[in-house]
Amino acid sequence: MKFVVQVRLFPTPAQEAALADTLRLCNEAANLVAGIAWQTKTFRNYDLRRHTYGRLKEMGLSAQPAQHVIKKVTDAYTTVKAQAKAKLRKPLAKPVAFRADAAQPFDDRCLSWQTAERTVSIWTTGGRMKGVRFGCSDEQAHALAAYRKGESDLIHRDGLWLLIATCDIPDTEVIEPDGFLGVDLGIANIATTNDGEHHSGKHLNAVRHRNRELRRRLQAKQTKSAKRLLKARRRKEARFARDVNHVISKQIVTEAARTGRGIALEDLQGIRERVRLRRPQRVTLHSWAFHQLGAFIAYKAARAGVAVVHVDPAYTSQGCSACGHIDKKNRPDQATFSCMSCGFAEHADVNAARNIAARGVASWAVSHAADDAA
Ligand SMILES: [Zn+2]
Repeated sequence: MKFVVQVRLFPTPAQEAALADTLRLCNEAANLVAGIAWQTKTFRNYDLRRHTYGRLKEMGLSAQPAQHVIKKVTDAYTTVKAQAKAKLRKPLAKPVAFRADAAQPFDDRCLSWQTAERTVSIWTTGGRMKGVRFGCSDEQAHALAAYRKGESDLIHRDGLWLLIATCDIPDTEVIEPDGFLGVDLGIANIATTNDGEHHSGKHLNAVRHRNRELRRRLQAKQTKSAKRLLKARRRKEARFARDVNHVISKQIVTEAARTGRGIALEDLQGIRERVRLRRPQRVTLHSWAFHQLGAFIAYKAARAGVAVVHVDPAYTSQGCSACGHIDKKNRPDQATFSCMSCGFAEHADVNAARNIAARGVASWAVSHAADDAA
C-alpha cells in the first residue's frame, strides 16, 4: 500500500538560497532539454540523454540531477501526449515549459534522510548541504524511517519548502474479523460508530465558519495581500482538518483492533450528492476531508492488520437498523431516527452506523465465500 508523506523544511537563510538556486537551475535545464527534445523530435529518455547530457553538465548539474531533469522532461511529454490522445487537451504546439519553482525529484544518492535527527542532506548547486531541518509528526517519522522508497520531490509553494516522499507499506496479514465496527460520516459528527461513539466536528466547523466570514470580507477586497491571506487561511484550515482526521482515525482503528472487529466504511463515491443538508452546512462539507479520513483509516488499519470493507451507502440513513424498514419519515429531524414500522429509536447517525456495520458483515461473508470456493 503506497502513500505520500509531506514534510516542511526549515532551511537557514543560506540553505534556502542554495535550495532556491538549485530548483531554478534544474528548471532552467529542464526547459533547455524540453526545447532540444522538441526541435530534434527526440522524446525517448536514452536518445535525449545523448543530445543533452553534456550541456547539463556544463550548466553545473551533476550526473544524478542531470538524469532526473531529462526524465522529468520525457515524463512530461509522455503525460501530455497521453492526455492529447485521450482528448483531454489539445496537442502541443510548442515545447513543454517548467516554472522556475516546479518540483524536482531527488533520489537516495542526492537526498538522504536522518529521520531521528529530523534533518536531510541534499545535493544543491552549491554542493552537498547537510543538516537541513524538517518538521513532521512522530507517525510520519516512523513511516519515513520504515517504509520510504524511491525518489522524493522538492517543492517550493507559497513561500514554504516541502519534501514529498513516497512510502510503501507491505501488506500485513489481515486478522479474521469478529464482527464489524460501522462508521457513519457526517457534518455535525464527523464520524459516528455503531457503538454510539461520536467524533464531533464542532471545533472543525467553528474554524470553518470563522474562515468563511473572513473569506467573504477578503474576497471583497481583491488585493494581492488579501489573496495571500486567503491562501494562508485555507492551508491552515486544511492542516487543522488533517490533525482532526489523524486523531479520529487512530481512535477508530484502535477500537476495532481492541475488540477484534473489522471496520466498515461507506463507499465515498458521491457523498456530496448523498448528503442533503441545510444551506449553511453545505458550505462546510468538504468531500476531500472525508476521503482523507477514509485514507487515514485504511492506512492505520493496514498496519494493524484490521480488515476494512467499503459498503454501498444507499439508504443507510433512512433504513431501520432493527427491522430494515426504509422510509423518509423515519427521520423526523437531522439528529433523530424513529422507525415508523417497528418503533426502534436511536440517534440518526448511530442508526446509520449500525446499518453500515451490518453491510460490512454481509460484504465480508460474500467475498470470503468466494475465497473458499476458489
Ligand atoms: Zn424498524
